[in-house]
Amino acid sequence: LVSRELYPIDTRVKIGNFAVGGEAFTVIAGPCAVESQQQLDGIADYLTQHKVAAIRGGAYKPRTSPYSFQGLGEEGLKILKATSERSGLPTVSEIVDANDAELMAQYVDCLQIGARNMQNFRLLEAVGKLQTPVLLKRGMSATIEELLLAAEYIVNAGNPNVILCERGIRTYETATRNTLDLNAVAYLKQKTHLPVLVDPSHGTGVRDLVIPLSRAAAAVGADGIIVETHTNPAQALSDGHQNLDPQQFDDLMSSMKPFVEAAGRSL
Ligand code: PEP
Ligand code: MN
Repeated sequence: LVSRELYPIDTRVKIGNFAVGGEAFTVIAGPCAVESQQQLDGIADYLTQHKVAAIRGGAYKPRTSPYSFQGLGEEGLKILKATSERSGLPTVSEIVDANDAELMAQYVDCLQIGARNMQNFRLLEAVGKLQTPVLLKRGMSATIEELLLAAEYIVNAGNPNVILCERGIRTYETATRNTLDLNAVAYLKQKTHLPVLVDPSHGTGVRDLVIPLSRAAAAVGADGIIVETHTNPAQALSDGHQNLDPQQFDDLMSSMKPFVEAAGRSL
């Protein structure tokens, strides 16, 4: 169902009024985790000055360490909804439990499946029963074929609104958090009609590498990026080291523009 050979027409996935996979380059931005109403509203305030498709932020944050901040849970979903109503920005947030699918769909506009859950097949089937858009992140050790088959689970269960996301894979390299696999983006654009986003924040884990890799993502033909940003990255409760501050977010948007336009899209 996700094959371009069988279904050649590009899928467009609507998040709010924005068509991911259309002519406009998609930028989804926001903090790693929802921390407070004030934090998320502050970030939305500068995002709305740009052509941003949606605001991201995790409410459920199972972390590598059980001692790290685990997210605000349903309270975080309420904050997302309030920020969305105030700013007009649609929301993207990660789902970690199949039992949360209906609840989360009431609060957010797009459900993110995290890298660690790419092959959580019950979770894939649960979001497949909804029509809410799904942002499916590639597992850190998953092949491209496995990513496509994970997407196939969701579409086969009845939800065609799937967006793929390359977020970096594990390699022998340790200088960066992950190795952003831009091969995968070019390859996926040929093999599937589903939109493909790039996450340069988790893909590099290094704030100063986010802008160059975002430009590369645009140039290689990605449909957009999902990027982490925070009013005060040093104070972020998670992933601060890879968050852009408001000025850097501004720089990101202006420096990506020529690359987006060279790829035949608008920003
Ligand atoms: C995230 O987007 O904050 C996240 C946890 O990403 P990933 O699942 O790609 O690690
Ligand atoms: Mn993160």
